[in-house]
Amino acid sequence: YYSQETYIYLNGDFVKAAEAGADFFGQSLHYGYAAFEGLRAYSTHHGIRIFKAEEHFDRLEKSCEAINLPFSWDRQLLIASTYELLSKNNLRAAYIRPLVFSGPNMHLTAASSSNIMIAAWEWGPYLGQNLLRVCISDVERPNPKSLPIDAKVSGQYVSSILATSDAIKRGFDEALLLDQEGYIAQASSENLFIEKDFKLYTPPLGNVFPGITRQTVIALCKELNVDIVEKKLTVADILAADSAFLCGTASEIIGIKEVDGMAYEEDWEHTIGASIQRKYKKLVLEEENYEVII
Ligand code: PMP
Repeated sequence: YYSQETYIYLNGDFVKAAEAGADFFGQSLHYGYAAFEGLRAYSTHHGIRIFKAEEHFDRLEKSCEAINLPFSWDRQLLIASTYELLSKNNLRAAYIRPLVFSGPNMHLTAASSSNIMIAAWEWGPYLGQNLLRVCISDVERPNPKSLPIDAKVSGQYVSSILATSDAIKRGFDEALLLDQEGYIAQASSENLFIEKDFKLYTPPLGNVFPGITRQTVIALCKELNVDIVEKKLTVADILAADSAFLCGTASEIIGIKEVDGMAYEEDWEHTIGASIQRKYKKLVLEEENYEVII
């Protein structure tokens, strides 16, 4: 992820990643009390552009608010600093990871101070380019009554790590997680869509993470005149679908080939998901969809 020459952004300065330190006496490391984001920059015909930068930094601020982690930075300044960070690291297409973490405090009280760090590195599509074999995990999504699951809070990703690592151990590529009511919610770090009879379905917000890519897919459906229905999906719905795909900033749009060994019959290239995938690839490279900051 980094070398001796890599810069990160830390509380307003650009510092060498290898020389920067975080507090060992802070709640973030001990309790997972931190909030983060994942963005992508693309090398477009018009230069380097961060996709949906405003939306991501807005969600970062909301995630901090949800857990009472102080957030005092100006969004536009953070976006401009991220572009500068890319330039300092000679990155064109990159994954970008802002993280807000607490200052020194070992109590279980809300943090009174916080830090912001932004890192960036080259990262291909997180789940690769091949159709996925997924399983239905025994690990459930975190309970929304225990944690604000709409917020991108570090601690809840322990559950994602458990689900993914168990899936990989069992020979799958990724895991689908159930919510507390037994409906299929999403994958460990991607939202889920299924296609049935020329319509797309995705679980409604509430028990799923409000993905920015999920929102983009819904908007693309409208453009493509595809009916999109937000409804709770049972395991039987997933298995009876014509096709399915996952989406997220890191993974972009990626088709599912099999669920628990049951293969979808539809040829992926002919699915609505594949049309959305092509549209998404074009969209991220179109200048007008970006905030041009500098
Ligand atoms: N679900 C979870 C749990 C996630 O962490 C992410 C990625 N941040 C997503 C879904 C996809 O969200 P987005 O499209 O905003 O990247």
